[in-house]
Order: sequence, then structure tokens, then C-alpha cells
Amino acid sequence: MSIVVRNLVKSFGETRAVNGIDFEIPGPRIVGLIGPNGAGKTTTLRMLTTFLAPTHGSVCIAGFDTVDRAQEARRQIGYLPESTAIYPDARVSEFLAFRAKLKNVPRRSRGGEIDRCLHACGIVNLRQRIIGRLSHGQRRRVALADALLSDPTVLILDEPTAGLDPLQVRQFRGLVAELAAEHTVLLSTHVLAEAQAICGRVLVMSQGRIVDDVDLGTGTEFHHCRLEVSGTAEVIRAA
Ligand code: ATP
Repeated sequence: MSIVVRNLVKSFGETRAVNGIDFEIPGPRIVGLIGPNGAGKTTTLRMLTTFLAPTHGSVCIAGFDTVDRAQEARRQIGYLPESTAIYPDARVSEFLAFRAKLKNVPRRSRGGEIDRCLHACGIVNLRQRIIGRLSHGQRRRVALADALLSDPTVLILDEPTAGLDPLQVRQFRGLVAELAAEHTVLLSTHVLAEAQAICGRVLVMSQGRIVDDVDLGTGTEFHHCRLEVSGTAEVIRAA
């Protein structure tokens, strides 16, 4: 099992951001975590990445409990946060070398590992570029290359295409689909079209709970949520 979540709860004072959720993801595929703003998606992803400790319940990543075996679990996770503040004055290669060192990639294999990630993200040509001079879409790819360092089992992507233009969105989705051949990808979004475009399965969150778990390969019936048009996108609302 790549991801096993059991009775996961996170409280912030009086607020139950995540209110007892369970799910399993067996192996490589793309699963969407969708729901309206404030549903608890980011809090869930932060517990999966070990940034936040659960109030109750457990998460196992590739067999490692994120509390008892946090270091091993962390090594199995690549995380693309919703907003990435990456060193604007550094070159792409310098930034990735620094991150590889932080992630304990052995010195002798760092160069090869960075090449692999640049290649996987289609940004070999950006290696010597200054990060601050890249477009938003290019910076997202650099952040994704960072997430891929040390070859994690699971990729966790928080609103991965937010702020990208339509062409960049299509290209980024294509990239994620390629990565899902070898990695389990869990991505959050509040736009249904995003999930429908690339996810094989969708978990719908509302008010801290999972209210629907839909296999898009066998049907697109959402029982406990409805769609609303917001701007140019369909968004999810609890029924
Ligand atoms: P969005 O799509 O807007 O990012 P989300 O589904 O990711 O929403 P979360 O960010 O997980 O939702 O927030 C869930 C609830 O928990 C919200 O009510 C939010 O205000 C609250 N919350 C999140 N983080 C904290 C925190 N550090 N302290 C207090 N409340 C928090």
C-alpha cells in the first residue's frame, strides 16, 4: 500500500479541520482530493507529508507510520506545496543541489539525481537559469523537480496548476500523468475539471470529512456533492 489513512483527525482549538477520514491508495495512479475552500484538503496533505501531527488517527506512507517512523516516511514523499517560495537569486542547479543535500542524497549521486529530475520535468535547458527570472510555470516545474529528488514513492501536489495559464495547465497535467506511471500521485484541487482531466479516482472532502469516493474509470456519479460554476470553472459544493 502506498498510502493508508485511518480515522485521521486534526483540530485547531475549536476547529476540526479534518474530522475522522479513512482511505487507502494501493499503488501508482493519480487520485484527486477535491472539495471547496476550507474543506480540510491542505490540512490532510500536511499530515500526510509529516508537517503536521494528527490529533488522532494514523497515516502510513509505503508502510512507514508518519509519527513512529517519520524519517523513513518522509523519504517516501515528494511534496509540491500550493505556493512555493524558492530562492529567486539562485540558479536552478544550485537550488536543487542545496535541496538534494538537505534530503541526504549521497554526494556522489547528487549530480545524477538532479539530472534525472530535471529531465523528468522537461527543464534540462533551465539548469543554469536564475529562478527569479523564470515564468510561474517554469518555477512550478522546478518545484516539482525538487519534490522528485530521492525518488519518492508518493507525490503529494497541493493545487498543482493554480495560477498557470491554460497551455501551462495542459502541459503540467501531461507531466503529472507521465510521473504517475511510477509514482502514486495524490493531488488536491477545488476544480472538478482538473480531477476529471487526470485522476482515476476522486475523494471528495467537505467540512473535514470524505463524503464521496468515486472511481472515474467506472462512473462519474457524485452522491454527496453538487457542482457549481464559479468564474470559468466548475467547483464542488457539499450537497
Ligand atoms: P483551501 O482550498 O482554501 O486551501 P482546504 O480544503 O485546503 O481549503 P484547509 O486549509 O485544510 O482547507 O482548512 C480547513 C479548516 O481548518 C478551515 O476552516 C481553516 O480555517 C482551518 N485551519 C487550517 N489551518 C489552520 C490553522 N493553522 N489554525 C487554525 N485553523 C486552521
